[in-house]
Amino acid sequence: MQQQPQRVSGRAVGAVMFIAALAVTVAWIVIRMFVTTQPVEDAPDAAAASASAPAMAPRAITTPFDHVVVLSIDGLRADAVEDAVRRGRPGFAALLKGPHTLEARTDPDITVTLPNHTGMVTGRLFKGPQGHNWLPNDLPPTIAEGGTLHAAHGSYVPSMWDVAHDHGLLTGMIASKDKFILYDNSYREEQGAPDAIAPDHGRAKLDIVELAFRGEGVERKAEAALDRAAIDGRRSLWFLHFADTDLAGHGTTWDMTPGSAYLACVDRMDALVDRLVRHIEGSPSLRGRTAIVMTADHGGGAPPLSHTVAESPLNFRIPFVVWTGDGAAADLYDLSPMRARPAASERMTATGGSPIRNADAGNCALWLLGLPSIPTSTVGAEQDLLAGWSRPAR
Ligand SMILES: [Zn+2]
Repeated sequence: MQQQPQRVSGRAVGAVMFIAALAVTVAWIVIRMFVTTQPVEDAPDAAAASASAPAMAPRAITTPFDHVVVLSIDGLRADAVEDAVRRGRPGFAALLKGPHTLEARTDPDITVTLPNHTGMVTGRLFKGPQGHNWLPNDLPPTIAEGGTLHAAHGSYVPSMWDVAHDHGLLTGMIASKDKFILYDNSYREEQGAPDAIAPDHGRAKLDIVELAFRGEGVERKAEAALDRAAIDGRRSLWFLHFADTDLAGHGTTWDMTPGSAYLACVDRMDALVDRLVRHIEGSPSLRGRTAIVMTADHGGGAPPLSHTVAESPLNFRIPFVVWTGDGAAADLYDLSPMRARPAASERMTATGGSPIRNADAGNCALWLLGLPSIPTSTVGAEQDLLAGWSRPAR
């Protein structure tokens, strides 16, 4: 097709922009009208969820952990974990001495960073009336411009931090991309829900928010935070995020050939995991009281320099590991009989059974702490992961 020379007067541009703005406004009003016709209160949702759930006695953990670390390694493919273990790297090998699977799944509809991390901390998928609906994947707008999870969803979206904080635990996030400010924006004093459980710990659900742009900094801060919690006699829930593997993949592709920049970065992350595990094991006040839930927001490599194709196993296949320090490796699907194990390259859409997903991280972490699931959450809300596991007596 022949290109027409573009000569548009300023007035014409202005008129087009005005019409576009009008269209966006109208669309926004229509969406708002639709959203407000949905059930927006938390209580009816929760009641409906528990009414439709099969009668199942809540299965409490015998000895809850005092500290749980949810660790997300951005862009970490499951086969990269497998490869590191095969090459004798110590960190992931230590994590895999616990219930785990290398056939976990991302959100079925989207394989980018913020929507998948939002799934981890809220126990919801992206799409639908019960979804968290957070789509943007860059620095969120300000709170006043709608930059909270609640504004995007149309009503309050509780998180794993809400539950832990309302039960009196210390909560924190140490992340390595500045767009994670979304969670600080969503759960600060003015935006967090009132404390649902007496005594009142205030509305800010995140006690500690820190950024460090390399995994090394995140890991160092995490060691200090865990030590501080132990010294202060506080139980705690942490969310840690290493961005490095994602940045390496975007820079040079998710190259799985020996010696690639991506695999070198995987080894660096392995060393950080090793340090974190050694720190916990080496501390009398953390050892035996601390668990790690490790997963990833997505893999990568489709397209080669990114991970945007939600239908590609390169992107949707991720690890999900529960490290308890007990040293007993086990298949997490074997221990979670309510879950459907996907075939190696099977995506599993939202209607195709429930695989173990990264969005299970929040409710799994709460279960390990002996706490109930996130109100109105839909992924792992019955806390059925590890149903066939019992913690060895210490
Ligand atoms: Zn990325």
